[in-house]
Amino acid sequence: MIVKKNPAEIEKMAAAGAILVDTLKLLETKVRPGVHTEELDRAAEWFIRSQGATPSFKGYRGFPASICASTNELVVHGIPGPQRLTDGDIISIDVGVTLDGWVADAARTYPVGAVSATAENLLMGTEAALYAGVRNARAGNRVGDISHAVQQVAEATGLSVVRSLVGHGVGRDMHEDPQVPNFGPPGKGPLLEEGMVIAIEPMTTAGKPDVRIAEDGWAIFSQDRSLAAHFEFTVAITAADPLVLTPWAELPQADAAVSASLQPSA
Ligand code: MG
Repeated sequence: MIVKKNPAEIEKMAAAGAILVDTLKLLETKVRPGVHTEELDRAAEWFIRSQGATPSFKGYRGFPASICASTNELVVHGIPGPQRLTDGDIISIDVGVTLDGWVADAARTYPVGAVSATAENLLMGTEAALYAGVRNARAGNRVGDISHAVQQVAEATGLSVVRSLVGHGVGRDMHEDPQVPNFGPPGKGPLLEEGMVIAIEPMTTAGKPDVRIAEDGWAIFSQDRSLAAHFEFTVAITAADPLVLTPWAELPQADAAVSASLQPSA
């Protein structure tokens, strides 16, 4: 069942989203060679709680931390720990913030120091895929229009889209209907209507799309151990333009500008 939100509720979700954006900005200053991923987690939890909010992930189905910290071949759900970041790593940081009972969910993959051309292409292409998805998050479109746009941009960049992990509705619960896949034909799936709020979250690899689950039961990694990326916004469908509730970056205006920046990978 898809639960639509009224403008006052969307405003509350945006307040949660604003704290989330500030959390990511704080973490960005700390992502550097030598840092332990558990330090990032501690900083995030401290900051979120200092804002009167709670980290949505902590305790969710038993998840032990406030952020997911997924390095290199990890796609999502990496548990922060004693691992140190190294120059040339990439790290996907996924954060959920709950404020007054409303959840915001967003993620971003960061380079650590100087990264390879493959990593740069992966980050650029996945971020562009997110933006392409968001541009299609319009009342009257269908979920498949988002999915298709994400897939097209990701694959045009030479990336693979992970099939078994999808975006989702978000609201009072972190995972609501509908599912928002990152692949598929346009014009299919649930109709997008004003008041729906969804997490659009392309998850990609620089190799093949197959993933496996780690021994800790949480982390998902690319089966071929290729680098993986994850970019996510929580987005409200409005009568007009899509409204990003977790704007860690400004949505680029023109499709042309994005496609011109795309380069096929080697
Ligand atoms: Mg999500």
